[in-house]
Amino acid sequence: MKVRADVAQLLRQGHTNRAISRATGAAPKTVARYRRALGLPPTPLGHFTGSTLQSRFDARTEPLPGGHMRWTGALTSRGTPTVSYGRRQWSGLRMAFVLRWDRQPVGHVLPGCGTPRCVAPDHVEDKPMRVQLRATFAAIFGEVS
Ligand SMILES: [Zn+2]
Repeated sequence: MKVRADVAQLLRQGHTNRAISRATGAAPKTVARYRRALGLPPTPLGHFTGSTLQSRFDARTEPLPGGHMRWTGALTSRGTPTVSYGRRQWSGLRMAFVLRWDRQPVGHVLPGCGTPRCVAPDHVEDKPMRVQLRATFAAIFGEVS
């Protein structure tokens, strides 16, 4: 689903469906559908929370040289960056992906920059993006066997 950029931004900032509907002219049902499409939790009690996907992400990352980002927050036992948001656990990579692309990833999210554990939103890729990239390389350089 293509989510309108202005609506996605307000959703990420933690506004209620009603407030976003008023600000953008999008029907409340549409806003609710976008919220589900992005995997964002409903605002508790319908109030602005101030705790947003962006603020949760920013508080747990620090920039590295070269535009990469390091996760400074909690890790799962397998070393995956993790943070609770709404009523669920998010991986730091998935959070970075949703912040950058305004959609939920398909398959695993991995850093495409080759830097292990990088969570820079501009560097993360999901499965369809990796497949697309391989197809592009194959078209340019020929299949590598
Ligand atoms: Zn990177």
